[in-house]
Amino acid sequence: MKDEADRRFLVDWMLLRLGRWLRLLGQDVALPHEKSDERLMIQAKEEGRTIITRDRGLSLAAGRRSIPVLLIRATKIIEQLAEMADAGVLLQLDPHRCTVCNGPLHEMECSEGKTIRWQCKSCKKIYWEGGHWKKMERMLEEVRSQRGSP
Ligand SMILES: [Zn+2]
Repeated sequence: MKDEADRRFLVDWMLLRLGRWLRLLGQDVALPHEKSDERLMIQAKEEGRTIITRDRGLSLAAGRRSIPVLLIRATKIIEQLAEMADAGVLLQLDPHRCTVCNGPLHEMECSEGKTIRWQCKSCKKIYWEGGHWKKMERMLEEVRSQRGSP
């Protein structure tokens, strides 16, 4: 079993939103190249990723081929995040991955007292701790309080 810290994920088509959230939590998350379950499983195997899906059939099929899979039950994003926390993902904003392209982020030089900014090395998108950030912090806080643990 691989260390939970270096798990890489692949979300299916129904969980793209969860995938973007996981990137905000610093996780390495790929999106599927194609819609078919068959292609998704091949991609997971080739890239050494754990599939995240709500599709029980896909989860069973992946299990039969010894491809690691996490079956998500909830439909609400907050509950889905709680399930990921149960699977060992820390619920803390950790800007290491671009939510758009999964590229690595690097912290930009900034003068004293200014907001910290990050830039994606691949697509150049810039992130900073603004209002949107606070909204996300609040949502994670809600998940944490519902679970009663960090
Ligand atoms: Zn990017």
